Amino acid sequence: MPIEVVPLGAGQDVGRSCVLVTIGGKNIMFDCGMHMGYSDSRRFPDFTYISKTGNFTDIIDAVIISHFHLDHCGALPFFTEMLGYDGPIYMTHPTKAICPILLEDYRKITVERKGETNFFTSAMIKNCMKKVHAVSLHQTIKVDDELEIKAYYAGHVLGAAMFYVRVGHESVVYTGDYNMTPDRHLGSAWIDKVRPDVLITESTYATTIRDSRRTRERDFLAKVHECVLNGGNVIIPVFALGRAQELCILIESYWERMGLNVPIYFSTGLTERATEFYKLFIAWTNQKIKSTFSQRNMFDFKHIQVWHRNYLEQTGPMVVFATPGMLNAGTSLEIFRKWAPNPKNMVIMPGYCVAGTVGAKVLAGQKVIELDKYNRFEVNIQVKNLSFSAHADAKGIMQLIRQCEPRNVVLVHGERNKMSFLSSKIMNEFGVACYMPANGCSIRIETTKVLQAKISTGLLKKYLSVSSNNNSTSIAGDTPTEREAAVSTFRPKPSIPIHGVLLMNMDTKQNSTSIEIIQPGQLYEDPSQKKAKRKMFFQVEKPFNVSTILSDIAHTESSFQDDQKRILDILQVNLTKSIGTSWPIERNTTSIGIQSVLIDVEKPNVLCIKWSIEDEDLAGFILGTVNTLLYSSS
Ligand SMILES: [Zn+2]
Repeated sequence: MPIEVVPLGAGQDVGRSCVLVTIGGKNIMFDCGMHMGYSDSRRFPDFTYISKTGNFTDIIDAVIISHFHLDHCGALPFFTEMLGYDGPIYMTHPTKAICPILLEDYRKITVERKGETNFFTSAMIKNCMKKVHAVSLHQTIKVDDELEIKAYYAGHVLGAAMFYVRVGHESVVYTGDYNMTPDRHLGSAWIDKVRPDVLITESTYATTIRDSRRTRERDFLAKVHECVLNGGNVIIPVFALGRAQELCILIESYWERMGLNVPIYFSTGLTERATEFYKLFIAWTNQKIKSTFSQRNMFDFKHIQVWHRNYLEQTGPMVVFATPGMLNAGTSLEIFRKWAPNPKNMVIMPGYCVAGTVGAKVLAGQKVIELDKYNRFEVNIQVKNLSFSAHADAKGIMQLIRQCEPRNVVLVHGERNKMSFLSSKIMNEFGVACYMPANGCSIRIETTKVLQAKISTGLLKKYLSVSSNNNSTSIAGDTPTEREAAVSTFRPKPSIPIHGVLLMNMDTKQNSTSIEIIQPGQLYEDPSQKKAKRKMFFQVEKPFNVSTILSDIAHTESSFQDDQKRILDILQVNLTKSIGTSWPIERNTTSIGIQSVLIDVEKPNVLCIKWSIEDEDLAGFILGTVNTLLYSSS
């Protein structure tokens, strides 16, 4: 069955991630995000694509959320509580813990500060979270008898996961956002070689190959330091969890090292709660934090204090980490607005900004920001963009493809032109198809059919021993290349070519077919096989154009039965001519039989010819006659 993929959000775009996948008859929604750049209906995915009548529970078999960022989960309470989806939702334990806090934050900003109505309530967020099943890494979850999911570590933010989904022999991997290099607080993404039919990957940094982390870190600290030395204020817009913790660890140790006492603030009370989360989910952080945790909690900051609005009136210098990350609302926008006119100050954007947000406008070099008709301000502040956001870069994406070996790749969560660049790179390097569907555009991907065959133990042993014969060398070697070669002989082989006879056993009573691979010759040598009196049949189908044989067909009004009869008549005449009378020809309504050779005309425009192995020569002769009749007359 083909696999269908349609993005409802994040198709050739960043933000509002929501990808619908149909696999083996199951419909799965990956992520249910909101778009930071809009505050109208475009803020949520267009769910009418799934159902116009709104019965989502019957259609969607499972919703899977990759991580807590709002562009991946921000529309979830809307989908479950306001549109009524009541089926299962899956996310990891940390995501389940942190997600409702960010949703509540987002709700407060939208409803209480912007005064919007018709939005989900706190109670709705709570009810929505009750429907969530929390999953652990590498735990195989059976959604139903056929649908299976498994989460893999994605780096990116605490609790972020990639999901492997399998129905029968078909499978899909959805990455969400991921990072292939470890950072100061998280490890790198990793997945088994699951060889999915389709890999759906984010491509935010599709064309970027980043400098080393160390260079970026040094750059960041130098910029902050320089600004405060000149008496300026630094604002760093961040999300409450994730990059914030990483940059705090960085700046904390720098302040310590340099003996600086310029105040550093964090704009939200979430720091303490964030610390709680990291403690709770310490297994999800990187090795260094895990191993040093008992002596020193890296998230207990000495220099960083909680921000208070009154500090805005204070004279600088100071450094403030403020949420939200893209300057789209809230404290970060408030501080930025106040500091933006002064060229002494500096804003450092540590990540990607979705189009439409103030952050994106500032990065694009806009000198005046118009929030609405009455609110505009000048931007003279120094603007720096440092890519600290934990997305895989082009190198990382290629590395993930190499790791999981997909048959097809679908790019989402990226900009169109960057995607096309990466897409041709992927096709060239891996020789797999790569798609980049737009929102609402569905793509169908054919899957390969997997047939299982039994193989005799004798035959398997023979080939296994052949393939491991050269393994007898010891693992030692003089050079690294030799050692690598020696080691590689012990790795399991992805495939072993076997020379044998492929048998298809048709059980007409059970209406089933089984496939078996046996030794050549075993068919007749093996006494047990002889006992079973195995008969071997061959079958070919010869498609043809009726008008080649019945030249008058266009002018006559004949039924299919008439045509069948006339074709058999012509066949009979021609066969009698070519093989003579030594073999009697048996005629039935839809077939002709000569010994074991059977020619039938049951299907329109196809001759089906079967014979048993004993009549191989006769069949060859008959096939020659049939070919001449079907294909040589003009
Ligand atoms: Zn993210």
